[in-house]
Amino acid sequence: MMQAEIIAFGDELTSGQRLDTNSQWLSQQLAECGIRVLFHTTAGDDLVAGCDVFRHAIQRADVIVSTGGLGPTADDLTRECIAAACGVDLTRDESVLEHIRALFACRGRAMPERNVVQAMFPRGSRPIPNPHGTAPGIDIQVSRSGRNPARIFALPGVPAEMHDMWMATVRNALAGLSGDNRCMIRHRAIHCYGTGESAIEAMLPDLIRRGRVPAVGITASQATITLRITAEGPSPEACCAAMQPTADTIYQCLGDYIFGEDGDTLQDVVIRLLVQRGQTLATVECDSGGTLAQWLSAGDPDRRVHRGGWVLRDPVSIASVLKNAGGASETQSPLTETGLQTLAANCRTIFRTDYALALGPFPPQIESASGPPPVYIAAAGPAAVYGHSTPYAGHPDILLPRTVKEALNFLRLRLQAEESNEPAVRSSPILPP
Ligand code: ATP
Ligand code: MG
Repeated sequence: MMQAEIIAFGDELTSGQRLDTNSQWLSQQLAECGIRVLFHTTAGDDLVAGCDVFRHAIQRADVIVSTGGLGPTADDLTRECIAAACGVDLTRDESVLEHIRALFACRGRAMPERNVVQAMFPRGSRPIPNPHGTAPGIDIQVSRSGRNPARIFALPGVPAEMHDMWMATVRNALAGLSGDNRCMIRHRAIHCYGTGESAIEAMLPDLIRRGRVPAVGITASQATITLRITAEGPSPEACCAAMQPTADTIYQCLGDYIFGEDGDTLQDVVIRLLVQRGQTLATVECDSGGTLAQWLSAGDPDRRVHRGGWVLRDPVSIASVLKNAGGASETQSPLTETGLQTLAANCRTIFRTDYALALGPFPPQIESASGPPPVYIAAAGPAAVYGHSTPYAGHPDILLPRTVKEALNFLRLRLQAEESNEPAVRSSPILPP
């Protein structure tokens, strides 16, 4: 299998001012072509560093794709670096120069002398056409003693230009390179919520070991645990078939910890379940600043499910909303578990929805012997109001998203349990509707 290295050039990348999204995009594209990316290299705009990076890449990768540094200014050094690393000189391509001149003429400007450099190419290379910008890319084959030659594709840094050139030219060139023994790579991501990474791993047979075919990886992002299956094969269909038995095992072992695949989020799944049932949802949030409503409304652009909700914060205001909502006896501060359930039930009535999902308020994060304090969650439905709580602990960066996910997951499990007429895990009716 061919191996690739992606090189991103730019001081704005190494100084941390801009995130290198080109390499991420190119990695996904190369994988689709069946080429494994082994290295991402990032270098500043520096001649010596750039030459070094290309020399190393030529030794360790069969395909090298670089972005950036093809412009006309003094800090754009990619063409010099490639020429030096390949041991060739730069020559002027008259037809490219004409093309650049014509582009300037179209815009009613004379070509600045500096732009001549963009028509300079390492000897033996071919320009990669750039329909929307001035700088063509560079495509060059480099011979290596005793091995197949390496191939370099240098593309501009501007993401939109780079994408167009990849799609129009580079992708096809690579398909030709890999020829008949073409190998594709496909991924399948299975998302879980409700327990930790190591607990998930412990529920599975030995799937995550090195060298397994197809490979299974596990990652955690804001309390969502993802199992990623990767398969190689001659066609997308062959890859899917190779992944299916592994996916079946994962589903058997993890049951309803699994909420979706690939692009699915918990809110997508909740919305989908409610759409299927023709039902609607309103939300009550204390302290989550509207995150729950924002996720749901972004996932429901046609307004089929999420009717709106209350975003509450100040305890006095919460008490007053609760009073208006009919929970007259509630005077405690902060809001109690019962208070939240009353809010959920009344929100459901006022918004005339089938369900109302409520969460919060967030307790102060205090260390205590009895463990972290709980955050309450309530789901008011046609049959009853269901209560749940989750410990308010963990890294501050994930507390908010995890609490919101906990609420969505609670509703998901309820809806799924109703579908299958089974009692939902970890929930019980508390109040009449
Ligand atoms: P140009 O012909 O436009 O001068 P160039 O090849 O010289 O192209 P750069 O000047 O390095 O490209 O970058 C142009 C723009 O693209 C800048 O806004 C830069 O921040 C952005 N860019 C460059 N490299 C990347 C990258 N790896 N990821 C995301 N954006 C990038
Ligand atoms: Mg640059």
